[in-house]
Amino acid sequence: MSYLVLARKWRPLDFDQVVGQGPVVRILRNVISRNRVPHAMLFSGVRGVGKTTLARIMAKALNCEKQEGALPCNKCSSCLEITAGTAVDLHEIDGASNRGIQEIRDLKENIRFLPSRNRYKIMIIDEVHMLTNEAFNALLKTLEEPPDHVIFMFATTEIHKIPVTILSRCQRYELKKVPFAELFGLFQKIAEAEKVTISDDALEMIAREAAGSIRDGLSLLDQVFSFGGDEMTGADVSEVLGLVDSQLLERLAAALLAGDLGAALKILNQVCTAGADLKRFTADLLHFVRGLIVCRLNAAPAELLDGSDREIAEMTELAAGYSDESLSQLFDYLLKGAAEMQYAPYPRLVLEMTFARIVQSGQAAPIASLIARIDELLAAGGGESPLPSPSPVSSLPEKKNPEPAAPTITEPDRLSEPSPAFVVREQPPPDVPGSASKPAAGTGPEASKDPRRDWDDFAVYIGERKGWMAQIVKMCDSARFKGDELQMKYEDSTHCPILQQADNLKVLTEFAQDFFQRELRVKISARGTGEGGNGGDQATVLQEERTALRRDPLALLVSEVFSGHVADVRTGPRSRVSGAGTAKEE
Ligand SMILES: [Zn+2]
Repeated sequence: MSYLVLARKWRPLDFDQVVGQGPVVRILRNVISRNRVPHAMLFSGVRGVGKTTLARIMAKALNCEKQEGALPCNKCSSCLEITAGTAVDLHEIDGASNRGIQEIRDLKENIRFLPSRNRYKIMIIDEVHMLTNEAFNALLKTLEEPPDHVIFMFATTEIHKIPVTILSRCQRYELKKVPFAELFGLFQKIAEAEKVTISDDALEMIAREAAGSIRDGLSLLDQVFSFGGDEMTGADVSEVLGLVDSQLLERLAAALLAGDLGAALKILNQVCTAGADLKRFTADLLHFVRGLIVCRLNAAPAELLDGSDREIAEMTELAAGYSDESLSQLFDYLLKGAAEMQYAPYPRLVLEMTFARIVQSGQAAPIASLIARIDELLAAGGGESPLPSPSPVSSLPEKKNPEPAAPTITEPDRLSEPSPAFVVREQPPPDVPGSASKPAAGTGPEASKDPRRDWDDFAVYIGERKGWMAQIVKMCDSARFKGDELQMKYEDSTHCPILQQADNLKVLTEFAQDFFQRELRVKISARGTGEGGNGGDQATVLQEERTALRRDPLALLVSEVFSGHVADVRTGPRSRVSGAGTAKEE
């Protein structure tokens, strides 16, 4: 008894049996029922989605002897012959092996004659993009004036390789990749009909691996079925097909996110022992992490992910336990690892080191919280705040407490007092008189607000919206209106650049316009750098300083150790204190 592979055994015989191509099937049915049959049709789509299958069904419908009711009838001799592959008026040509001009000449010779017994002579050319230019040209003449009794059906996986002159003479049908759920349903039905007991997670693995191609899925299913066994499980499938169990990926991702290097390496060892292809495995892991990110960010992940409801629920639960930052960091590291593995002589070592870096980065990740902690300690000890925290470049939602807990700290005026000693400022500086008794920010514009008088209120107003910015605004040593300019001056230039960044300056300007209820521009400058303010020499000097710091051996070393990069350099008298902070984690 000969064994018929599933892909042939389960090849659809009529339109109803076609899986996952609803829209195209509807059009084809209409083409027949309204008798608007084009002389050239082009079916395009990735491999194994049913291009030639649909062409054959269409051929059957066109040549069906019944020509009534649902077509094709699959009972008349024409239908049966096409199913059996013996129809005399249906010619199937493989474009890959018959790509020359001679083959097209033969074909043209053939179509001169009327069909032997059916209505149409039908030419199916598979992989039509493989034809040579000369062959296409020869074909073009025929397509321009096709005989009434001839219908061409082309199938291709690479529609872009077909000349426009040909394309414009075809009616085109684009077949989609078959959605995960439909593949899963089909495989379940086949397993049942073949009397094979196979678990859902095993079928899910196959459906995912098929990646939209029915034929690929069925050939995997063939392999699994011939493995035998009473009940096929996910573990069996991963053994037979060398696929990675999604449970394993989930455990590995969880171990990496939890910083458990031991567990991660153990799982990797298990994968290596099983003989899996590591590059492939890394790609699977990347897809899984991408899935976690989608689950975390998207309210309807099922539309974007190939997976069952159960799997997506599990992924959503796992993703909920980690921040967006941790997940995207994990993805970045794995992506880098995958790229390095491409040409590495020892892929496993690369992957192990990637895992080690991920775990290290997890330990180094809460830099924002470290900075906050340092701030706290310094504040308690009457020291100096090294950095404005947290980083404003972060895309994470602002979660910082808008009210800075630490007392405001500043330096005395360096111009009049050369001592480098820092003092804790209990009272506002002379230029910015306090106004703690003033009504809360944003309450009615009963009197126009003034930066000298209302600065603290302004800081509170900002603090309710952008915590880190309020802290820097508070440190401003003098603020006043000059014309339509709000001029902010700092004794210490450390914080100017960050406020001067276009995005931040825009936000600050909006805050100021809302608070002071007037049109204004914000100008930020540091004492000792001239009145030039935001532009000119100061910018050049700052730029040079920043470039030098960026190339500072210490900064480079820190970047190397943490495999980060220098994202933001802040210059000024206090920058050296916080040298390590200039290397930001990626
Ligand atoms: Zn028929």
